[in-house]
Amino acid sequence: MKKVVKFGGSSLASAEQFMKAGEIVRSDKARMYVVPSAPGKRYNSDTKVTDMLYACYEIATEGKDFSKQLKAIKSRYDEIIAGLKLKMTLADEFNVIEKNFKEGAGRDYAASRGEYLNGRIMAEYLGFEFIDAAEVILFDKDGEFDSEKTNDVLSERLAGMKNAVVPGFYGSLPDGKVKTFSRGGSDITGSIVSRAAKVDIYENWTDVSGFLVADPRIIDDPAGIDTITYRELRELSYMGASVLHEDAIFPVRREGIPINIKNTNAPEDSGTWIVESTAQKSKYVITGIAGKKGFCSVNIDKAKMNNEIGFGRKVLQVFEDNGISFEHMPSGIDTMTIFVHQDEFMDKEQQVVSGIHRMAHPDSVEIEADLALIAVVGRGMKSTRGTAGRIFSALAHAQVNVKMIDQGSSELNIIIGVANNDFETAIKAIYDIFVTAEV
Ligand code: ASP
Repeated sequence: MKKVVKFGGSSLASAEQFMKAGEIVRSDKARMYVVPSAPGKRYNSDTKVTDMLYACYEIATEGKDFSKQLKAIKSRYDEIIAGLKLKMTLADEFNVIEKNFKEGAGRDYAASRGEYLNGRIMAEYLGFEFIDAAEVILFDKDGEFDSEKTNDVLSERLAGMKNAVVPGFYGSLPDGKVKTFSRGGSDITGSIVSRAAKVDIYENWTDVSGFLVADPRIIDDPAGIDTITYRELRELSYMGASVLHEDAIFPVRREGIPINIKNTNAPEDSGTWIVESTAQKSKYVITGIAGKKGFCSVNIDKAKMNNEIGFGRKVLQVFEDNGISFEHMPSGIDTMTIFVHQDEFMDKEQQVVSGIHRMAHPDSVEIEADLALIAVVGRGMKSTRGTAGRIFSALAHAQVNVKMIDQGSSELNIIIGVANNDFETAIKAIYDIFVTAEV
């Protein structure tokens, strides 16, 4: 059995947290490869090292003195090193960082030092080999992650290596410059290393015991999810459920490697399993509910639209020409509605309206703002009758006006559009009917 273990920032925020992580790695020989994040928050009002690095580099680019800020970052690491009683110093590393900051090494380089230095400490603490992610996580000249080249280089590097630490979040461009993934990207690195090392399980250690059926900021103490498929997770994380980076499933998905989300502060909890497919029924008909506010709908009316070949293409062309991607497009006989992100759309709304008139000659175009989309996701829906009915009667009881309904062809999710103001009420009503009422 082989495992990759990725630790999030809160799991490595202090020496105390580092010791828990160390204990986890040492307690299971299968935990061969470790992917650390940068030190996160030790308490609520604390600042993540990554954010300290961005801020420090900003000062450096303004040509101002950043020594105080860099010192504060160094002391975060020194505190960890001292707490772990390690005989190492990062003095030389910080001299290099200071020099590179002065020479304008870039924002990505700056941010990546958070993971790089934590990786150095982790390797020393565990007695594992350190692999600089810049050597093995590769981006192409356009800044896109080069999955195949990375997989070749990394799997060769890891072959025959019993243990290694690969820092998360960054890699390098063909010219050697450091490039990071988007925020939270260490999850992606963990997945890439899992694929390259052909492990059996990708363990992702964080500060919660897995995924919850709904957002705890909306539902008090929501139920947990035991098992979720990659596809379900994709629907939920796209709609705003955050625990794992959206892109982290892709590398492991190609190999069918399961991800196990675990809690560093409660390692006995089984957490959530993310799998390709499973015969296990989820506890409830639905696996999860997630949603986002801030959408606009563009409602287009034209008598006999159904007979007009090419109408939809002309309308969509206008969105494409304006560089706007759309989220959903329900249509009727004489109507079609396009859902877009309000913030992307705001500046261009009048161009879009006139563009649609010019291209497609509709009877009217109407815009409705401040809408929210809610995704109710569950592999169990396919084999259960009445799910949509239950959702809509729950919403009707809660006095929520449903603006849009869209069921994906996979029968894995139902998307509902409501006013932003009804968002929380709608989620509570759906949660109650499927979860609270079931227990
Ligand atoms: N340290 C980076 C961030 O704060 C990446 C990560 O933690 O995954 O976004």
